[in-house]
Amino acid sequence: MRLKWKLSLLTAALLLLPISLATTPETSVKAASTSTTKTTKKVTKKKKAKHTYLIVMGHGAGDPGARGNGTSEAKFLRKYYLPQLKKYAKKIKNSKVVFYNSKHDIVRDTLVHHKGSYKINKKTTVIMFHLDAPYGRGGHVIIHKKHPTARDKRMAKVIKKYVGLNHAYNGYSYRTDLKNCNVLRHRHIDYSLVEMGFITNKSNFKHLKKNRAKIAKAYIEAITNENIK
Ligand SMILES: [Zn+2]
Repeated sequence: MRLKWKLSLLTAALLLLPISLATTPETSVKAASTSTTKTTKKVTKKKKAKHTYLIVMGHGAGDPGARGNGTSEAKFLRKYYLPQLKKYAKKIKNSKVVFYNSKHDIVRDTLVHHKGSYKINKKTTVIMFHLDAPYGRGGHVIIHKKHPTARDKRMAKVIKKYVGLNHAYNGYSYRTDLKNCNVLRHRHIDYSLVEMGFITNKSNFKHLKKNRAKIAKAYIEAITNENIK
């Protein structure tokens, strides 16, 4: 009995063998082609790695920065601009826009705590927003290299349109004596520092406050070189 069972099982196995041989190659081809597609997709994704822009609002932490019109650079930027910039940053598809923790000061974090800019990936672009003081009007872009980049030019256009340019600089200023810029400069991290206008100037202040949504949207578009619908 046992032998008979074994034989019939063997027969069954032999009968099934051609079927399994016939199906196996097809299945494996399918599996192989699927995995090839997946690999191709992964490669495409890797190629399109999004560029990161890190936005820093004012001096950070407990440093109020410039004062004027009953407020400070820190308060004004965080109350009026941070929410607007964040709102439009979310609409950007081709790059990533993140914000530095306002409770932290990037310079202190870097030089004292040895974190700060050291936590930033070297490929990140840092955009710092500031308000000027004490006397003058209009804004300008403090640039990373001797000549403004296309991004610097787009940002200067935003200043010109909504606030006006500071005639002392005609749009741009190349400086190597600013701590907040130098913590990035020394690490070869790309940056721009935007002096949005004078906090002490009534007209600049009024326009910055009133048009904050439009200005924030225009800055995010200028930074990322992407149109927000
Ligand atoms: Zn400042």
